Amino acid sequence: MTSSLPVKIGLEIHCQLTQLNTKLFCSCYCNYREKEINSNICPICLGLPGSLPILNKKAVEFAIMISKALDCKIPELTVFSRKNYFYPDLPKNFQITQYDSYGTSTSIGKEGSIKYGENYKIARIRRIQLEEDPGRLVYENGRTQALIDYNRAGVALVEIVTEPDFVDPKEVRIFLNKMTSILEHLNVCNTNLEGSLRCDANISIGNGKKVEIKNIGSFSDIEKALTYEITRQKTMTIHDIEIKAETRHWDDKRKITKQARSKEEEEDYRYFPEPDIPKILLENLSLIKTSELPDERKSRFINDYGLSEHVAQVLIDNKDLADLFESAIKIYHSPKSISNWIVSDILAFIEYDSSGKKTITDEMKIDAKHIAEIAKLVDDNTINRSTAKSIISRIIKTGELPSDIIKKEKQTTTIINDETILLESIDKIFNEEKKATLDAKHNPTAINFLLGKIMRMTKGRADPKITTILLKKRLDEEV
Ligand SMILES: [Zn+2]
Repeated sequence: MTSSLPVKIGLEIHCQLTQLNTKLFCSCYCNYREKEINSNICPICLGLPGSLPILNKKAVEFAIMISKALDCKIPELTVFSRKNYFYPDLPKNFQITQYDSYGTSTSIGKEGSIKYGENYKIARIRRIQLEEDPGRLVYENGRTQALIDYNRAGVALVEIVTEPDFVDPKEVRIFLNKMTSILEHLNVCNTNLEGSLRCDANISIGNGKKVEIKNIGSFSDIEKALTYEITRQKTMTIHDIEIKAETRHWDDKRKITKQARSKEEEEDYRYFPEPDIPKILLENLSLIKTSELPDERKSRFINDYGLSEHVAQVLIDNKDLADLFESAIKIYHSPKSISNWIVSDILAFIEYDSSGKKTITDEMKIDAKHIAEIAKLVDDNTINRSTAKSIISRIIKTGELPSDIIKKEKQTTTIINDETILLESIDKIFNEEKKATLDAKHNPTAINFLLGKIMRMTKGRADPKITTILLKKRLDEEV
């Protein structure tokens, strides 16, 4: 019976607001990446005595945008709290965050929901809150100690907490794809940046205790971590071993979860309201607009451009692809052919990045102009599909324009529709295949055989329609 034990999974997603200019409470850069270690710091984010935090208004607006997009209730007041704990990456010994205490909600958003997947399953959002990111421990090769880089300390994070509404790891992955697409469309987070989107998961089976898995660095690992943890908990249940409420870490090298520490109770953090930040009144919310969201964009693609549900979904799941599509159809308005080239061919060349998402990298030299040209050259019958595919694999590396390649290599790329050249090929094949030529006068399948020979001889470049007409005409003349 164990295999039928219900699984419950809830998520805590930490999204860095990478599109801000500055950190959450000071004027240090939000973009700490590739900066010299411990150069992006000030007395506020280091928590030096006497320094006072100043809340970044734009960060609050971004959190409100996310809350609106996820259909959350937004209270009139929001409050920040101190979460006290000692860890070397936390210079103040407390983190400024938000905490629902004494029965009141202090988060920026609460009780929202997201529809995801083909069947529009609903995942409930418990709360959305703002908090600061800690610094980073850096483990250098050959050193036994860790070094600390505070450049990241104080960067704004939005924490999105779901209800335990997921029943298997695959659902979680589909949900996270949707969440990523929403955050990208809101332009609050560049999810391609390493560490910009991190996830903790809690998981329980049957009536067992809740186990939290921390530090899952990439979305592709979430599915693996959850699958591992479900198997572990089910095996323990079969053997009547008690599952403890605990925090486990995902070891991405060994692909297992391992015990981190016995779980702290919330009172261990001694939360109290942050005395240096006043209560924030959230007003004039209607002035904070959200951009077009993935679901709206998908409907527009289907209704305005006639794309299929499937093609529209693939484009929307990855904002880069959807943007590429819209730029390309501005150059050559053929939405169906352009979307098909992107979804069936270009996508195959795009690699998964470290977060498990397909990302168009700078090394890929293909842009909207290339795709528009390819689609037009095929639609105009200048090149055939297989030539187009080989041109795509070439321009991804070189960035050459398809029209330039064709100009340079007319002899090997363009479709042959010149009747004189085609007739020469036909005569040549008639000479080589005398028996088949005789057959073809009475047997249509033999015509296909001859056509195949001509296609092979011209390396697929003969226009099949014109060639077939000419073949039949020539056969009639041969009588
Ligand atoms: Zn600072």
